[in-house]
Amino acid sequence: MNPMRIVARRGVFAVVLAASVIYLTGCASMTRMSTRYKPLHPSNNQSVDFTVNATDGDGISQARLYVYEYALSVVNGMQTATKRNNGTWGLVKTWNFPSNPTSINETHALTGFPASTFLTFLFRVTDKKGNSKQEEWSFAAGDWPFGNNPIPLWGNGAPAERIDVCFVADRTDYATARNMLPDLEALIFDGYHINNGVKMGKKYWQFYYSPQRGFISDFDASPRTMDIPSSVQNSTIIDHAAVIHTTVKRDWASGGNFGTEPTNIGTAAHESGHAAFKLMDEYSGGGHNTSSDPHHNNYNSKSNCESYNTSNGWPAADCQNIEGSWWRPEPSSLTCIMLNDGDAAMPDFERTCINRISWFYSQLETP
Ligand SMILES: [Zn+2]
Repeated sequence: MNPMRIVARRGVFAVVLAASVIYLTGCASMTRMSTRYKPLHPSNNQSVDFTVNATDGDGISQARLYVYEYALSVVNGMQTATKRNNGTWGLVKTWNFPSNPTSINETHALTGFPASTFLTFLFRVTDKKGNSKQEEWSFAAGDWPFGNNPIPLWGNGAPAERIDVCFVADRTDYATARNMLPDLEALIFDGYHINNGVKMGKKYWQFYYSPQRGFISDFDASPRTMDIPSSVQNSTIIDHAAVIHTTVKRDWASGGNFGTEPTNIGTAAHESGHAAFKLMDEYSGGGHNTSSDPHHNNYNSKSNCESYNTSNGWPAADCQNIEGSWWRPEPSSLTCIMLNDGDAAMPDFERTCINRISWFYSQLETP
């Protein structure tokens, strides 16, 4: 094979990627991987489990875990993370798979980290053909030195280029904010991360929790109240907050913030669909609005809805009346999560919403 041609093709491919954000999924020879750690925000010197889950049709030959330990402090008035002297820095574990399994699920525990730690971990998985894929995430460990500021649980980039979600413990259900953390593991890793719209842009989702608790009432309560701590409400990095409660309530949203039970993963993804992507409800009795952004899932006339579908290659006849003058371009037979949030199940975002989500992600990072 002519190496010059490979270089040229890779160059073209890179340009296409930058121009339109292409998501590669479903190819048998690609490594698919997910990573996680536990417990969330480990306390001082508490052992931490790092886990990688990967599949690759070509067979997997190796996995490696790298950990980078930073110390958090205030330097010249700035909250700063600096490499910790004598801290963990680099490769900590290698798994070799001479039988080249098509799937792996490995965990490595590290003894704990002191107060004021910020950790980055990186898993790199290499397939039998020598192709590698990696995931890199960061989180706080040990006592948090920055007061009531939201504590990073899962992130990898500049907040301006990410969707930053802060969880707030409902004070009626959790004696401390930290008591909520075990419930968040499933909500993040087995909730948000299994949603199709989140998965296609997983790197864009960052999660935090508030050291201070809050409160959300039932929708039908009088007065109807939501209390988001000011350090979250006024945060320059948080895009929306979710009050986590275990008492069963009729949930609602206001100002981009919402409440949910941690087990209602579909509710959380639906509400984040409103808050992050400005998608609207596709059911009667929900909130309806249209938008000047491309690909919205509510139209205020049948003809506008039909022209959207026609211009996107979908049947005009798919448009259905929601209520009053409001129309949805994707039919109820598709059962989008914006039509029915699924509560503890996780319905997919469907075609119109997926297009909106793709567009939204493409706006987050400017080349
Ligand atoms: Zn809704």
